[in-house]
Amino acid sequence: MRKKVIAGNWKMNMTPSEAVELVDTLKPLVDNPEVDVVFCVPAIDIIPVVEAAKGSNIQVGAENMYFEDKGAYTGEISPAMLTDAGIKYVVLGHSERREYFAETDETVNKKMLKAFEHGLTPIMCCGETLEQREQGVTMDFIRQQVKIGFQNVTAEQAKTAVIAYEPIWAIGTGKTATTEQAQEVCKGIRACIAEVYDEATAEAIRIQYGGSVNAETAPELFAQPDIDGGLVGGASLKPDFGKIVNYK
Ligand code: PEP
Repeated sequence: MRKKVIAGNWKMNMTPSEAVELVDTLKPLVDNPEVDVVFCVPAIDIIPVVEAAKGSNIQVGAENMYFEDKGAYTGEISPAMLTDAGIKYVVLGHSERREYFAETDETVNKKMLKAFEHGLTPIMCCGETLEQREQGVTMDFIRQQVKIGFQNVTAEQAKTAVIAYEPIWAIGTGKTATTEQAQEVCKGIRACIAEVYDEATAEAIRIQYGGSVNAETAPELFAQPDIDGGLVGGASLKPDFGKIVNYK
């Protein structure tokens, strides 16, 4: 039985002092031991959020990291910096990073390998544009993102990973994919993992849905057999996130 993982993606919101206030507000609301609760926060918020979350069930994640250990990469954050600061999860290949910061399946793959090397759990994002959905190539596109993203990742590593299926047309738009659409693609991703690895790996890996998830849509989405939680943007900055975490 896979444990649900519900992660907030704060994006470029919350100054360090606002971040601490938000953690203090959400801490009592997200206390659900049945779920892995993760707050993925901007780099500058990591240290104060890790401190503010101490003694709670909140695990802290980063929104990105670089694929080298150290060196002349001005402005980047290394995996060792994240682990030393108390980070457990890292979002990789979010569509906003692919669109605005030229991330590719290949760079996502390098980051995946580096994350595992450092004991970080990647939340690897994938998802189609509206145009791709209308052209009927959704699953082909996502299979490619998953296959390249997981190249040279071992089955043992893959079992611990999280994949977030996020249709780009549903991110920040208020348009949630229907439960059927979300389940269909998450099932397809699991089948792709079974093909690349084996059934045991496919059964173990956790697959989230993301895209305008809110307190109303979460219960039905998270009840689907192949949806193991969610990656939540806008609603993770509000007390509503407590309702999403306690979706049952
Ligand atoms: C996201 O940022 O990953 C996301 C799903 O955002 P939203 O919930 O705001 O659509």
